[in-house]
Amino acid sequence: MGLESMSEIPKAYEPGKIEKKWYDFWVRQGYFTPKIDQGKKPFVIIMPPTNVTGELHHGHALTATLEDIMVRWHRMRGEPSLWLPGTDHAGIATQVVVERQLAEQGQTKDDIGREEFTRLTWEWANKSRENIRRQHQLLGASCDWTREKFTLDEGPSKAVRTAFVSLYDKGLIYRGERMVNWCPRCQTALSDLEVEHKDIVGHLYYIRYPLTQRKGFVTVATTRPETFLGDTAVAVNPRDKRYENLIDKSVSLPIIGREIPIIADDAVDTSFGTGALKITPAHDPTDLEVAQRHNLPLVDIMNPDATMNENAGPYQGLERFACREQVLADLKDKKLLEKIEPYSHSVGHCGRCQTMIEPKVSLQWFVRTQPLAKAAIEVVKEARVAIIPERFVKIYFDWMENIRDWCISRQLWWGHRIPVWYCQDCAKVTASVDEPVACIHCGSKQIIQDPDVLDTWFSSALWPHSTLGWPEDTDDLRYFYPGSVMETGYDILFFWVARMIMMGLEDTGEIPFHTVYLHGLIRDESGEKMSKLRGNVINPAEAIGKYGVDALRFALTTGTSPGNDINVGESKLESSRNFVNKLWNATRFILQSMDAEGPEAWTTQLQPQKIEDQWINSQSSRLIRSVTGLMEAFQFGEAEQQIYGFVWSKFCDWYIEIAKIRLHSQSAPSPLPFLVNTLEKSLRLLHPFMPFVTEELWQSLKQHLPGGSQMPASTMIAPYPFADDKAFAPEAERVMDSIIEVVRSIRNIRAQYKVKPSKWIEARVYTGELLSRLIPQTDMIEILAKTRPLTILDRQKRESTKDTDLVLVLKEAEVVVPLAGMVDRLAEEQRLTKESREIKERMAQLEARLSDKAFLNKAPSQVVEKEKQKLSVLEDKLKRLNQELSQLNSSSADS
Ligand SMILES: [Zn+2]
Ligand SMILES: [Zn+2]
Repeated sequence: MGLESMSEIPKAYEPGKIEKKWYDFWVRQGYFTPKIDQGKKPFVIIMPPTNVTGELHHGHALTATLEDIMVRWHRMRGEPSLWLPGTDHAGIATQVVVERQLAEQGQTKDDIGREEFTRLTWEWANKSRENIRRQHQLLGASCDWTREKFTLDEGPSKAVRTAFVSLYDKGLIYRGERMVNWCPRCQTALSDLEVEHKDIVGHLYYIRYPLTQRKGFVTVATTRPETFLGDTAVAVNPRDKRYENLIDKSVSLPIIGREIPIIADDAVDTSFGTGALKITPAHDPTDLEVAQRHNLPLVDIMNPDATMNENAGPYQGLERFACREQVLADLKDKKLLEKIEPYSHSVGHCGRCQTMIEPKVSLQWFVRTQPLAKAAIEVVKEARVAIIPERFVKIYFDWMENIRDWCISRQLWWGHRIPVWYCQDCAKVTASVDEPVACIHCGSKQIIQDPDVLDTWFSSALWPHSTLGWPEDTDDLRYFYPGSVMETGYDILFFWVARMIMMGLEDTGEIPFHTVYLHGLIRDESGEKMSKLRGNVINPAEAIGKYGVDALRFALTTGTSPGNDINVGESKLESSRNFVNKLWNATRFILQSMDAEGPEAWTTQLQPQKIEDQWINSQSSRLIRSVTGLMEAFQFGEAEQQIYGFVWSKFCDWYIEIAKIRLHSQSAPSPLPFLVNTLEKSLRLLHPFMPFVTEELWQSLKQHLPGGSQMPASTMIAPYPFADDKAFAPEAERVMDSIIEVVRSIRNIRAQYKVKPSKWIEARVYTGELLSRLIPQTDMIEILAKTRPLTILDRQKRESTKDTDLVLVLKEAEVVVPLAGMVDRLAEEQRLTKESREIKERMAQLEARLSDKAFLNKAPSQVVEKEKQKLSVLEDKLKRLNQELSQLNSSSADS
């Protein structure tokens, strides 16, 4: 490429100008679509499907960035890398959004019917998917859009039906009456994940149940008095002396007069309420367990909308809270309400509509999970599936060993319809992958499909294999399954990850992925949880507009470690942007130097002669070795921090500054080959984290290089740097460390004594073993520390210092800086005098305040304490100023 094509890069980095350009370029080149190569092991991440309910938030941005880092890194290592993107129909969440939109027009879903409602929801979902795709593209996600999937696509839907029927045929899916979390507004069962627990200040009501065999009562305490209508027993602890004589007797339910037994059960907590517990098996999970132990009947007293049904006798038709009021009034009338106490307790609410949950027994479909969990425990025990960080392994076992059957039916319209048909003639069930024409038992054509849909997590549990074509035997499934890494938040380890392992093993006989990587949650700068209410949420789109994608990605991930929460705010975003700018400016400087010096100077072989060149080569090799190890251990945040430290400090602040000395004096050998080499490697090292700016700069650099046309077409397919052990130069590192230490110490003194930047100051360095290595570097130290004359001497021949000399003892050297001549004595004296006068004035004010009786009487003690502290800080400062003044005066007397 000729010189005429070299364009200078702009002075300031404007991310908005290049991000789209490079993303489109990558897509056009097909880099995101891996080729199946049987000779190579692929790297695979199936993206956790994003819910089609709206905008991407900071959590999505974190997930996408971490996954992109992994995929880009593996791709640069030459592995066929697949990152398969997708979206989730998100059952109830999406249905509620569309219902709300309908409500704004004064309609309900029943007004428009199932078909029309589903059509509207598809419309909404498609728009939302488009939006999600665009936002992932904004983030630079290098996922394979040609393989994008949606949980309701034909492929994944067939996988859902196939998995269901297979489990049903094995007897691992059954229909039964079980306790579920019921939302009376959404009128569906909810998973535990869809329930939000809130602390409620309520009441504990003490109700008297009259004994049937003799006079008197048993008093029970409850927070939900209306449920007494569904009681089928009163339970007491068999060791509770108070109720010894009442066991196996009976009571009569107030108002409705139904007779129920008093039973003994070890599970009754004698310290709650009166120690006698009302048992309402149809509306309380613990009571249901008691009822099953004692073969008690179930009495359901509510309709699906939480109004009372015929079992509630005189209260039929009342809404549950109205019923509570009425029940309480009636009990009071009959003097059966003993007392009411305030009582705080945790109450479940629907996560989508905030309605209070009603625990309710209902007829639902369940997966028998215990047999599935057994295999899923085994593969983690055998470390065939690794969970990172490891502390979650124990949590996983705890959950899996105590697993309960999984309620998979939802009374919704949006989702995968349950593939079950009920026969109107023989009443038997036909479960089928394809729509059956007749009952498989009696051949009747009178069959009706179950109206319910499956829990949205059912299709998510199949995601790793359904996205690759299962149940068909496809090339993708054979090559890319099992996946490499499943990356997600630790909060859904159980709801999702555990189920993927169970279903993957069940359907394919293989684990779904080798490693589970769990990231933490993003918190704000002070460690608070981000929420719309607090107003501390980072909106990815806004942050991208303000700081650029690379800065956002860097801020979200740098310093993170698996499973730990991470604090992010404006200042982290700003410092990430500063880093991008630093990289930009360094590249700009190097490109300009290349233009100025002509090609010969920087195309020579890398044979470092100079100590600083050996040092930067050695340091970058060390960095690469360390980064490789960290990436393999999933410590991306630490890898970023180390690259940051190297680029910012070692490369930009030290090496480039040192190189400038040689560039200015045009002395040979030129440092340009090392500048170019280190920059080029740094850009590749940073690419997985900051894809856009590194591509832009790498392409500019490539244009400047004589062999540029032979280089890969993009940094994203260039090989990730590997460490060159031959470059390690411990001796050069020791010398450079010492030089840096000396320069830093002199710079500190200059800052402390406010020496003008243009002023040269004198210094002596005493050293031992390094003497012969440091002397040739005198010029470099002089220029970097602005110190002249600088003499480097043998420690053995050290002269005694005067008391006006500043002495700094370092690791390998001692630095002596004579104070005389360093500072402009008169100006310094004036400055110190002025400062001490100001301090005295402020002290006088404080002292006056602290001796003012009125102030002391009125002010809170912490305020007084603060004022006293201020005073002591000032006293300290004054003392130090006086010392500096006297040192100054003695040095002036000396000369
Ligand atoms: Zn609800
Ligand atoms: Zn039949």
